[in-house]
Formats: sequence, structure tokens, C-alpha cells
Amino acid sequence: MSESETNTTHTSKQKHEFQSEAKQVLELMIHSVYSNPDIFLRELISNASDALDKLRIESLSDDTLSDCARDPKITVTVDPKERIVTIRDNGIGMSRDELVSYLGTIARSGTGEFVRAMQEAATSGRSDLIGQFGVGFYSSFIVADRVAVESRHAGSDESWLWDSTGDGTFTIEPADLEGNGTEITLYMKDKAEKDADGDDAPTKDYLSSWALRGIIKQYSDFVSYPIYLEETGKEKKDDEKSEPVNSMKAIWIRPEAEVSDDEYKEFYRHITHDWEDPLERIAYRAEGTNEFHALLYIPSHPPFDLFYREGKHGIQLYIRRVFIMSDCRDLIPEYMRFVRGVVDSEDLPLNVSREILQEDRQTAMIKRSLTRKVLDALKKMKTDDAEAYKKFWGMFGIVLKEGIVQDSRNRETILKLCLVENSRGETTTLEEYVARMKDGQKGIYYIAGGDVEALRNSPKLEAFRKRDIEVLLLGDPVDEFWVTAAGKFGDHAFVSVASADIDLPDGDAEATDEERASAKKLEDAGIAARLKEAMANLGGVAKSVEEVRLSTRLVDSPATFVQKGDPITPQMRAMFKAMGQEMPEEKRVLEINPSHPLVKRIADDAGDNYADWATLLLGVAQIADGEPIDNPAAFTKTLGKMLEK
Ligand code: ADP
Repeated sequence: MSESETNTTHTSKQKHEFQSEAKQVLELMIHSVYSNPDIFLRELISNASDALDKLRIESLSDDTLSDCARDPKITVTVDPKERIVTIRDNGIGMSRDELVSYLGTIARSGTGEFVRAMQEAATSGRSDLIGQFGVGFYSSFIVADRVAVESRHAGSDESWLWDSTGDGTFTIEPADLEGNGTEITLYMKDKAEKDADGDDAPTKDYLSSWALRGIIKQYSDFVSYPIYLEETGKEKKDDEKSEPVNSMKAIWIRPEAEVSDDEYKEFYRHITHDWEDPLERIAYRAEGTNEFHALLYIPSHPPFDLFYREGKHGIQLYIRRVFIMSDCRDLIPEYMRFVRGVVDSEDLPLNVSREILQEDRQTAMIKRSLTRKVLDALKKMKTDDAEAYKKFWGMFGIVLKEGIVQDSRNRETILKLCLVENSRGETTTLEEYVARMKDGQKGIYYIAGGDVEALRNSPKLEAFRKRDIEVLLLGDPVDEFWVTAAGKFGDHAFVSVASADIDLPDGDAEATDEERASAKKLEDAGIAARLKEAMANLGGVAKSVEEVRLSTRLVDSPATFVQKGDPITPQMRAMFKAMGQEMPEEKRVLEINPSHPLVKRIADDAGDNYADWATLLLGVAQIADGEPIDNPAAFTKTLGKMLEK
């Protein structure tokens, strides 16, 4: 945005440019044949309703605003002769700076992605798709070729006029709007006119109160403030009282059977400003001593702030139909922060504060039952609609898994909801894994640290593959936390394949005579002990090696690390170190493969090169674990030297 005049007193008209993303969205609005132009009204009413919410909340803590907050309402006026539709609210309003920044930029989550999706929909000719995107204020330009916004911030003595024809610029100048709030004036396109591309402008006639009434009823019936409709030139008879167009019935109170799918979707759009339909909906009513209604949704794409510490939580709290606060963190656990929706309590006091909620027993009960409802819904989705569940898991699984650590009460349920990759290239649940466990298998084997593809190729899996034992590949950084916190699933302990003392049944995987002979030769030469000795003179990772031993688990790789005690991956160690945390001393065991040609060669060595062999084996083991090598230059030098021999 750039100001073309540098008038610091701001008393005259000033011209500004839209931010480039905003320009793109505007272009799309103006030129695309929008499949559903009706939505402009839904978007503007939704903004008006938000503005009334904001004012009501602010007036609670600011007495000077209580007059402004009286008699909240939204008025839609149509003037067929002048071809004008206005939407007026007496909400919080916008200051000059707010008009410039809110209406000149798009601060939407994933704006780039959004614009791309819009453009694709436009160019692919799938105009029906465009209709699925909510575009907020800018949707005015679908139906209007000029939009003027007059606004007065509640409590302010100035009002301002924002005006644009959507040509890439807008102007700002002082105005004289009465009272606080916002009035949006739409100069409607002429339906006979063609737009710049020769496309027809929206054919529908928005200039009759009859048409507007229908749209308001369809999209905004549940808005909790009265929406009045007036037509200029049509005088009301004296005894005719204005009735709001909308029923203001809270959708979450109505019995589910009475509400259509479309109404639920509209409400989701209203509270989230999302442009896609939700993946799942949960309507719930609790009766008894703690009565409340809840209407929750699981979005079909993740919000941009899912992993920000300050990211938004999606629950709005109402008390007996009155909006109290959004972003209410005490009603849903942290690990369900992707859930959106409304909770309406019958019993909480209206003057409740965030501090009170934190301590409140009723809130804790609501949270507990909502948690269970969401888990039930997920369980149902998992059995009834595997595709949808997979989609859910791909987006939010990583967040839900936090619950295994945070919520011991529901730990087992969440574990059952987990989808995990396994060493056979499949996605599995823990229950399925357990059902496939081999006779005598001692636990649920897993490998953690690094991404799934790297884990899949780890030398630590070789022994398991050879014995046809399945291993879970836990590739998310959080996985190592929960697997440690949970300890077991049902009666089966989680066992890391990096653990030094796993004993696997040999079965079909028994060593061949040749392998035995090779192992014997190395044993007789005391290779393991001699390598360990050589490590005394090496630094870095060698210092953490407590033992070197001949392995029975390796098949193709020369060496790997395993650990005594509770295995902690190098990735987790690095993370804790970065956070400045003390970690228990590392006790690694270097296992070397007696059947590997590289290791066999050591047996022929008279002893001059043990330090070099040790360097090589340590480096190889580190690389396979996705761990940085201590001294890459020294390693490659040794590698070169040994290859030459
Ligand atoms: P969104 O509503 O998705 O944030 P919009 O483009 O519709 O995006 O609106 C941008 C911002 O402009 C809103 O977040 C709000 O702060 C402000 N705004 C829009 N309409 C109004 C209004 N009627 N009253 C007060 N503020 C408004």
C-alpha cells in the first residue's frame, strides 16, 4: 500500500493502492462469472455480526462504550431507483488506519494458497468451484462496480469514507457518519452491462427487497442480532412494525433433525470464515446438572497457526445464547486445538472471565465430555469412512498424538486412533499390529528418529526383516515422546529396535555355517575388544561407546549403534541439548556384522590400522542413524586411505 499524497493531517482525500494479493483477489471477483453471487450478502452480514460481537465484549470492560453498544442491529437497505444496496451495523467500526489496513490487504491464513486455488478455479472454467470460497469483504465486487465504506470506531469523534471501484486503488477521506459502526454502500452492477471481459454481470436482481429477504433467510438466519430490511421509496404504514428478517435461532440449540446439512455448513463458514466445507460435524447436547449445547466441526484443512504457540483455539463460548468469547482454551484440550465450533452453557454466570473459566469445575466437565465426543466421532469416522479418516490423520494426527502424553485418561483411546507406517510399507493401526504379532514376540517393535523413509532403510531393521517381524516406523518428532510416555499399548510394551538387549527368536533366521565360521574367526582374533581399545584414542562419538560386539542382528550393513537402558535417538538428544536440558550419559554399543566383507577384512589386519577401522565403522553407523558425523573431513580422509588399500 502506498499513499500518493503525504498529507499528515489527513483532512483531504487520499489515494492508496491495494496490497498485491488483495488486488489479485479483487481481479478475480470482478472478472469471474461467480457461480453464486448471493454470498456477498452473507459475507457482509457476517462481518457486521462480528463487529457487533466485538463491541459488546469491549463495552463490558469499558463503561464509556455502553451507550454505543445499546440496541445492536444490522440494517440492509435497497434503493432500486439508484441501484444501491447498503449494509449498516452499529458495531465496533473502523478507524482510518483500520479501514486502510483491513480493507486494503488480505491477512487471511495461507493467502498465497488461497489466491492460487481461486485462480485455478477461475481458469479451469469450474466457476462452480469459486462459489466455495468465502472471500469476505471483497465479494462486494462480484455484484457492485463501486463500493463505499463509511465507518466510525465506537467512542471516536471521527468517521471516514473508504471508496473504491476495484481498479487497484481506493481513496480515504473524512466522512460524517452518524453513530458508531459501519455502513457499506454497494453501487450495483447493471445486469444488462457486460464486464471488461464481455462476460455477463450477475444476472440476478438484487434490487428487490423480496430477493434480499430470501438470501438473508437462507444464509444468515442464525445470526444472533436482528437484521432489518428496508426499501427506499416504500413508505411504511404507521402501524406497521419492523420485524427482523432472521429468526436469530441459535443453530446449536435446534434439534439436529430440523437443521439441514447446508445450514450447518453455512454456520461453519460464518464462524470460521473458511472457504471449504468441514470434514466432520459433531452436535451434542448435555443435560442434567451441567447443561450445555455444543456444535463442533473438524475442518478439512489445517489452519496456518496450528503449530504456533500463540495459535488460535477454535471454540466460541456462549452462555444462554449470549456470545461471551472466542478462542476459549479451557473448553477443549490443547491437542484438539484444530476443532472449531460453539459451546453454549446454561449454567455458567454471564460475567465469567478467562481466569474464572480456568479454575471452574463445570468448565472442566464440559471439556472432559467434549473431548470424549470428539474422540468418539473420530473413532466412528475411522470405521465408517477410512478415506476421510486418512485425510484427517494426515492433517491433524500429529496434533492429536500430543494427547497421548497430555491426557493419560484417554491415552488408550488415542493410541487406538493412531495410524502408523510399518516396515512393510503399509499404514497400520496398533490393534492391527498386535493381531499380526508372531508367537512369542516380546513387544511392539518401533524405530524412531528421522523421517519414515530414512527409518525404513535403517540397518537396525535388518534382523527384523530377516525374521519377518513387523516394525513401526515413527517418523514424527513427537513420536518418540509419546511412545516413551505410553510405555505400552494394552499388555504389549513398546520396544525400540535400538535397544541393546533385544533377543529375537532365531527361527528360520539361524546363522549359516559360513556365517558361524566368520564370526568364530573374528572372535578368536579378539576384534571387538581391539576396536574398543583403539577407540580410546579417538574423540567424539567414540567416547560414548561402552562396548563393541559382534552382532547377530545385522544382515547387509557393516555396523550399527544400539543402546543400553532406555534408548534415546540422536535427534531427541540434539533437541534436548538445544533446549539446554541435561541428558543422561550415553551408553552406546557398537554392533559390527561378522559376515560383512568390510568387517571380515579387519581380521586380516595385523593391528596397525585399528584406529582407522574404528573411525570408519563409527562413521558408517552414525550416517545410518541420520546423525551428523563428528568430523566429516577426517572421516572421508580415512575412507579414502582405506579404500586405496
Ligand atoms: P475476514 O472477515 O475474513 O477477516 P474481510 O475481508 O471480510 O475478512 O474483512 C477484513 C477485516 O475488516 C475484518 O477482519 C474486520 O476487522 C474488518 N471489517 C470488515 N467489515 C467490518 C465491519 N462491518 N465492521 C467492523 N470491521 C469490519
